[in-house]
Amino acid sequence: MHRSAEEIEILLRERGLSLTPQRRAIVRCLSDHGGHWTAAELLERVAGEFPLASRATVYSTVALLRDLGVIAALPALSGELRFDADPEPHQHFVCLRCGRLEDVPSSWFPISVPEEVAPTFHVHRYRIVAEGLCQTCSQAP
Ligand SMILES: [Zn+2]
Ligand SMILES: [Zn+2]
Repeated sequence: MHRSAEEIEILLRERGLSLTPQRRAIVRCLSDHGGHWTAAELLERVAGEFPLASRATVYSTVALLRDLGVIAALPALSGELRFDADPEPHQHFVCLRCGRLEDVPSSWFPISVPEEVAPTFHVHRYRIVAEGLCQTCSQAP
């Protein structure tokens, strides 16, 4: 589950971090819509309300939210770095035709690291990307 805007704002305030209107708009965008956003998409969305919002504001805000653990970064999953409104462990499905990115539960992939390699590889999390066709694309001619 993604965090509510209120939760995120409380977390920021607890750390003495100020919430400018632009930052608040980014937080609201992620918490209202959930999903996976590139910095460019977030900027486009926020710029409608705040024409002076800059790429730098977006980057510094998502970096801050990522450091706080309220969003997660998905490195180059479908071409570009995306920010995931849901920081909890989960996996992803990418449509090979339309590029649509969706959350799928980790229970789809019941995997574990073999015990004998555990002392060598300290695995903190898995990132699995299932690739295929989404429902719309699989029904298209
Ligand atoms: Zn598709
Ligand atoms: Zn996700």
